[in-house]
Amino acid sequence: MPPRLSLGAHRAVSRAQTVRARLYVRRFASGSAASPETYDVVCVGGGPAGLSLLTGLRASKITSSLKVALVEGQDLQKNRLPHDASLDTFSNRCSSLTPASVKNLQDIGAWSHANTARIQPYQEMQVWDGISDARISFDWDSIHTPLTLRKPTQPTTIAYMIENVNTTTTLLSRLSELGGVDIFSPTKVESINLGTDTPSLDLSSWPILTLSNGKTLAARLLVGADGANSPVRTFAGIHSRGFDYNRHGIVATVRLGGPGRGGPNHKIAYQRFLPTGPIAMLPLPGNLASLVWSITPQLAARLKSLSPNDFSAMVNAGFRLSATDLDYLHTLEAGQAEEVAWREKHTPVDERSIPMKVVDVQEGTTASFPLKMRHADTYIGERVALVGDAAHTIHPLAGQGLNQGQGDAASLTRVIERAVQTGQDIGSLLALEAYNAERYAENNAMLGVCDKLHRLYSVESGPLVGLRSLGLRAVDAMGPLKGFFMGRAAGGV
Ligand SMILES: Cc1cc2nc3c(=O)[nH]c(=O)nc-3n(C[C@H](O)[C@H](O)[C@H](O)COP(=O)(O)OP(=O)(O)OC[C@H]3O[C@@H](n4cnc5c(N)ncnc54)[C@H](O)[C@@H]3O)c2cc1C
Repeated sequence: MPPRLSLGAHRAVSRAQTVRARLYVRRFASGSAASPETYDVVCVGGGPAGLSLLTGLRASKITSSLKVALVEGQDLQKNRLPHDASLDTFSNRCSSLTPASVKNLQDIGAWSHANTARIQPYQEMQVWDGISDARISFDWDSIHTPLTLRKPTQPTTIAYMIENVNTTTTLLSRLSELGGVDIFSPTKVESINLGTDTPSLDLSSWPILTLSNGKTLAARLLVGADGANSPVRTFAGIHSRGFDYNRHGIVATVRLGGPGRGGPNHKIAYQRFLPTGPIAMLPLPGNLASLVWSITPQLAARLKSLSPNDFSAMVNAGFRLSATDLDYLHTLEAGQAEEVAWREKHTPVDERSIPMKVVDVQEGTTASFPLKMRHADTYIGERVALVGDAAHTIHPLAGQGLNQGQGDAASLTRVIERAVQTGQDIGSLLALEAYNAERYAENNAMLGVCDKLHRLYSVESGPLVGLRSLGLRAVDAMGPLKGFFMGRAAGGV
């Protein structure tokens, strides 16, 4: 019986066949150069998704005998977090890892390598509408049974703030403990072509990678963990569709006036939806916090040009002042600190329900990234699988991008395990289809929710504002429904 493929996979296969037909003349000429080194799995991209997949494969008894390689364009050794990194400074690239992602990192033996002093769990999340002030608060205490009836296993942590470099260093430490991965770094993939039929092995369906160090690798399964502009996805002829949000995400590491409203042991994440995009303050250890502010590219450029004092004032204004005040403040070239101080005096706010004031910005941490929504038509092709941002790019308002990549890596590991156990070719579409089936719809739903939220909150006036506020208040009042949303956001716990 022929393998049953989803529509997306069918389209990708026929597209891949067309691309490969065109590539015919570009087949790797095995006779003209040294034969490529053959691998069961070659993963391009040593970001959080690629490293998690390789660690999973090496940690599993079922897949540990596979011959695997990693190709990473950047120098993985240089990009490691030093053991003695000061707790006074934090990277501006942080993510909130869900309990499900942390569980996966525990399962593959990586979490014990994490620098825990630099990880900040948080137990509460406050989200509100910048126009109507309608608010929803998330904390497991408000969902679960009273303290006396509570099981000791019930979660209290919503997510864990961690620097991306801490996540990758954690995974690299576990990988070097496990050993057995041929790592090419810093080495770029220069080109990918199909192989040819050789006397020893028919490589005609195998991707052959030519690396910047002159080496060639043949992959039974080629994994694209190579980010949003994935060369692997291009090779496979898989389209990625979507749009740019015309927003940039400004990030910065900021110092607050204190450890936070809940004290050092109860940390709170805050997000306020402004018409230009959400502004979020996520807790880091001590008095530090990670800022993510989605805003138009023009306003992002203006904010980044401000002095630290004026920038801090604008962030404080972002959580306190009205959208009209902010519109005016954005027009100023400088002097925001004084203007904000004056306006704050005339704007009553409940300081207990918003983050503490920013008093300083860590030097060199203010940066911005264009925000996009992209989704590949399928995550699989013949001898190809995509994970992480190579497969999907999501608006950061729910902090899900890196977590989705962790889910992909865990799922693909399981699918490869199953293929090995049942004696299937791990690069075949038949073996890989389960991965696409498991991840595509779930990621698509999350991409849709974040996109709709972005659109819903971009509206400044009219009936939608009333309706969304009503919805927010209703969900806030309904414990079980709120629990459902929290469970989904936490990654299905
Ligand atoms: C402002 C902002 C805030 C965010 N906040 C969160 C959050 O709170 N929570 C969350 O879960 N996510 C968050 N994200 C998303 C998250 O950062 C990404 O989803 C995640 O880093 C993607 O990981 P990845 O491993 O898939 O890809 P990447 O980290 O992009 O890794 C891809 C790797 O492939 C390598 N590569 C590419 N091409 C080649 C080549 N030709 N040869 C060799 N190597 C190559 C690159 O060097 C790179 O190391 C945020 C994103 C933004 C922009």
